[in-house]
Amino acid sequence: MKAIVKNSSSPGLSIQEIENPKPGPLEVIVKIQKTSICGTDIHIYDWDDWSSKTINPPMQIGHEWTGVIDSVGSEIKKYQPGDRVSGEGHIVCGECRNCKAGKRHLCIDQHGIGVHLPGAFAEYFKIPATNLFKVPDWISDNIATIFDPLGNAVHATLSYDLVGEDVLITGAGPIGMMSALIAKHVGARNVVVTDINEYRLDLCRELGIIHTYHAKNDLRELMPSLKMSEGFDVALEMSGSPDALNNIISSVKNGAKIALLGILPDDTKISWNDVIFKDLFIKGIYGREIFESWYKMISMLDSGLSVDGLITHEFHYENFEEAIAVIKSGQSGKVILNWEK
Ligand code: NAD
Ligand code: ZN
Repeated sequence: MKAIVKNSSSPGLSIQEIENPKPGPLEVIVKIQKTSICGTDIHIYDWDDWSSKTINPPMQIGHEWTGVIDSVGSEIKKYQPGDRVSGEGHIVCGECRNCKAGKRHLCIDQHGIGVHLPGAFAEYFKIPATNLFKVPDWISDNIATIFDPLGNAVHATLSYDLVGEDVLITGAGPIGMMSALIAKHVGARNVVVTDINEYRLDLCRELGIIHTYHAKNDLRELMPSLKMSEGFDVALEMSGSPDALNNIISSVKNGAKIALLGILPDDTKISWNDVIFKDLFIKGIYGREIFESWYKMISMLDSGLSVDGLITHEFHYENFEEAIAVIKSGQSGKVILNWEK
């Protein structure tokens, strides 16, 4: 079969012919239909500092996917060939205190599909059945493909009560846009999004997030037009930019709640005195709550949440270089790779 592989400790990726996977007793083999490209895959492509410390080539990459079960291991009872599935990309230990308490997203020994274990950018891919999520019939292949980042957005956005609240989201990447749509869906009053990329600001407005601004704007000056006086109640950092985090800290009200999803540089500086004297609450977000974020995601899609518009491109997997170039140009929302046609 064909797979997209990081073959050596240097930039780039290649399509390789490799042996088809075989399921262990508790695993299934999925025939991949579509995958989508995450920022992580771009980091691996670039062979940046993080990926050179984390990835052990050769590594088959990719963790955003949907497909159909091709075969199941000898002990699998609840899945059968033909089932449409997506799945959780974090493989957990099942033994630590958090795993045993049902808080699998807080596992102390997690392994990432497409990072530490062979990924989903392949014609066939192996995954433990405990990580599968059955895709309801009414969900399109494209939406099933982006369940992983949508689950990240759900996890971050539902961390706090947003009903009637004024919410700031920094970063209109796919996850920031998803979060803005979720915040509106669950009843936030004002949902304000910032970015520095005009294409993304425009796309965000096209999705119906009207209060979308370039990050250079002084948000405090915009507040009166949004009937706000004291600052944002909740802020979601979804850019990984220290400037954005500082913008958040200066424009939230006292006692505001902040979730950090964007990966910030280790040397990010903020005013800790503002955090203290404003009584701010800061929560880190990693991955999805397994599987609570997945259930909430399906329920919200069923009750009218629509994220289709943020998928802007689709390529055949053989043209993955073109897909990566589009992402690097900054002129894209979510980009899909098709493994069938
Ligand atoms: P993305 O890189 O496509 O989007 C980030 C956006 O932030 C871009 O549109 C960029 O122009 C914008 N930006 C840059 N500087 C800004 C600033 N000063 N103010 C406002 N916006 C600014 O990424 P994505 O796929 O949407 O993911 C969002 C972030 O979350 C990334 O940092 C990604 O690495 C991270 N991530 C974290 C997790 C997790 O589990 N914590 C999972 C997936 C992704
Ligand atoms: Zn664990």
